[in-house]
Amino acid sequence: MEKKNIDWANLGFGYQETDKRFVANYKDGAWDEGALVSDATIAINECAGVFQYAQTCFEGLKAYTTQDGRIVTFRPDLNAQRMEDSCKRLEMPVFPKERFVQAVIDTVAANEAYVPPYGSGATLYIRPYMFGSSPVIGVKPADDYQFRIFTTPVGPYFKGGVKPLTIKVSDFDRAAPHGTGHIKAGLNYAMSLHAIITAHNEGYDENMYLDAATRTNVEETGGANFLFVTKDNKVVTPKSDSILPSITRRSLMVVAKEYLGLEVEERVVPFEEIKDFAECGLCGTAAVISPVGKVVDHGKEIVFPSGMNEMGPITKKLYDTLTGIQMGRIEAPEGWIQVIK
Ligand SMILES: *Cc1c(COP(=O)(O)O)cnc(C)c1O
Repeated sequence: MEKKNIDWANLGFGYQETDKRFVANYKDGAWDEGALVSDATIAINECAGVFQYAQTCFEGLKAYTTQDGRIVTFRPDLNAQRMEDSCKRLEMPVFPKERFVQAVIDTVAANEAYVPPYGSGATLYIRPYMFGSSPVIGVKPADDYQFRIFTTPVGPYFKGGVKPLTIKVSDFDRAAPHGTGHIKAGLNYAMSLHAIITAHNEGYDENMYLDAATRTNVEETGGANFLFVTKDNKVVTPKSDSILPSITRRSLMVVAKEYLGLEVEERVVPFEEIKDFAECGLCGTAAVISPVGKVVDHGKEIVFPSGMNEMGPITKKLYDTLTGIQMGRIEAPEGWIQVIK
């Protein structure tokens, strides 16, 4: 398969249309067979549920080329499960998990020419999503839905080296207790845009959200979970019902315990404790881990000992081990690598 003529190393994180996308429609209480299609444009009614009441959820994962030349993706079964959880919370029909994984495989295979080569640092980002497609004007779930998957090549996250982030403790809340923070819904992102633009305008890279009820415990950022490392090398991640369960973070906790022999804790993390940690990172599919150098709480700066120039040593080990597993340089736990071809 001839690859597209793309400058992989200089790709950004933006949308670029690829050849094929998967589309399935839900009508009269059942999903159709679905198909790979060429048209990137969607035509739906002006009153579709997604436009009026934001009935939509999504997933994000990546395909890449391993050291031995296979095209693979990472734990797509967990994306399928998480999308099921999101759909149930939004009164949307579930797209069956086995079909979800197969559709991911088929969509990537159909866009093989866009899967970046090993070593380029670039990946093929995969975006499954679902939305209410039939007209809704009284507030209720739509009758019809569309499930789609498109792919787009994205560049290396750490272009020109790793640069630790500066994070602001936000005055806005991301998720309410008993709300929708634990699902991957577009609505969680719409309301976070003002907070992130505000943070960027003030010179920060990201927001740290605290729990909305007491504003005392660390939750997450707009799109990544926190990992902390204590001074005695324990890996700690916040536990809360309003955090989105990151697949990267859950995988890193396994790597910390099983590959690096570190103690791991998922527990409530009081903001007061942040100043005592040695390292901090943000976990998500896009970067795997981005190191955090500094947290600013209304003018009060907390600088982690790892500093503003490099990843902390444990963060680096976690990063190297998980990316090694993903790229086929280190043996993966059973079931983590889904081979596409
Ligand atoms: C997607 C997402 C993450 C990261 O999840 P991964 O499965 O690791 O990509 C973290 N927080 C939020 C709010 C998210 O939407």
